[in-house]
Amino acid sequence: MTGAHPTADDLRLPPELLPADGRFGSGPSKVRDQAVASLTEVAHGYLGTSHRREGVRSVVRDVRSGLRDLFSLPDGYEVLLGVGGSTLFWDAASFGLIERRSTHIVIGEFSSKFAQVARAAPHLDEPQVCETAPGETPARPETVEGDVYAYPHNETSTGVTVEVHRPAGDALVVVDGTSAAGGMRFDASASDVYYFAPQKCFASDGGLWLALCSPRAIERIERVTPTRWVPATLDLSIAIENSRLEQTYNTPALATIYLLDQQLKWMLEHGGLDFAAGRSERSAATVYGWAEGHKFATPFVKDPAHRSPVTATIDFDERVDAAALAAALRANGIVDVEPYRKLGRNQLRIALFPAIDPDDVAILTRAIDFLLERMAV
Ligand SMILES: *Cc1c(COP(=O)(O)O)cnc(C)c1O
Repeated sequence: MTGAHPTADDLRLPPELLPADGRFGSGPSKVRDQAVASLTEVAHGYLGTSHRREGVRSVVRDVRSGLRDLFSLPDGYEVLLGVGGSTLFWDAASFGLIERRSTHIVIGEFSSKFAQVARAAPHLDEPQVCETAPGETPARPETVEGDVYAYPHNETSTGVTVEVHRPAGDALVVVDGTSAAGGMRFDASASDVYYFAPQKCFASDGGLWLALCSPRAIERIERVTPTRWVPATLDLSIAIENSRLEQTYNTPALATIYLLDQQLKWMLEHGGLDFAAGRSERSAATVYGWAEGHKFATPFVKDPAHRSPVTATIDFDERVDAAALAAALRANGIVDVEPYRKLGRNQLRIALFPAIDPDDVAILTRAIDFLLERMAV
């Protein structure tokens, strides 16, 4: 310890404590260099070409079949996609999936936003909401009263997970897998709609939504959308038509699709979900193992069974200013470990997505210790 006011020089990390890649953000997140290089190589035949032609449609086809393989989708499940990200998908779900009423597990900002969409929709009944404080073990409703049962697989704002599960009854199970998809194991047959966006475990850019849909979900979409006014960009029956043609209703970001396909191929070539989730699990064991029993740090999520393997949240005690720690890391090129802005805790949030090297995560913990030695009072 060199006192409460270390200089910038004191806080410069030695080379052996610098991760090979300093991106640990929870979205947008690290994009692998190899994927970017590959995009550059194919640029002239791909970027700036029509998304209605085979050059782009063949990549969309690879993405849809790659996702089918990665998640071992049961027969009859379809991969839908469209422009607008997971946030848009909530709006689309309020028109095309929720028939009258939805039930939501709310455990943080993202799960609460979907419940809010349902609450605000004038054509839907007041949703049933089962809410648990951030970081606590998620409660489940005793009975699901809605025709859609919605919950996040990983609540990115807090790093709390909910196992993908299908309750009794016949509500459609609609799971927000935005930050979990590709980094967490689950049984696709336990969900009817598992939706996500490519800027997290799929190491691409944002702006697209993807959804793994069961035959029951497809049936629901086709039955419900003709019964009400639905804006075309939110009309999931239009998304079904276009997805089956390996297209989107309106123009997508082609680079996003390409980088997503590269990440999928990388995962599949190395062993699929076992490989990808295994990397996240290895990183998680490192981070939580380091934080448990630490002089200043402790995992925010007390119940190890609900600690996220993809977005770790680590609390610091009052001797540490986590915001100053994040700033010191940033000054060394280690970025985006600030906590979710609305959570307001003395915390770091560290993404452990598959693209992030588990060895870099180990170096990061040592880098934090180096800085803490010099910053903590
Ligand atoms: C990031 C995230 C979202 C929002 O995704 P966008 O593509 O930015 O709309 C929604 N849900 C969860 C769980 C997320 O992590």
